[in-house]
Amino acid sequence: MTTSAVQPLHVPLTALIFASETPDWTGALCADPGLNPELWHPFPTEDAGVAVEVCHRCPLRAECLQFGKTNRLPGVWGGERLG
Ligand code: SF4
Repeated sequence: MTTSAVQPLHVPLTALIFASETPDWTGALCADPGLNPELWHPFPTEDAGVAVEVCHRCPLRAECLQFGKTNRLPGVWGGERLG
């Protein structure tokens, strides 16, 4: 059996939070219903400052950044813009 490379996902983080149990996303600040999840998926010319600022206060920052890098996800993960 061969394994295929992980393809980047293009879905909102809020969808991933419910689809992935690792890490435990409890306490993710971006899950606040008052925040627009699109802030974590800016177009290349858009500013990601609000998302980065929220991430810097999030207790899941390290795990989230690792998750984004491991799964080659575009967007803001753990306060860094990936992809
Ligand atoms: S570090 Fe940022 S993207 Fe990751 S869970 Fe926290 S607020 Fe969301």
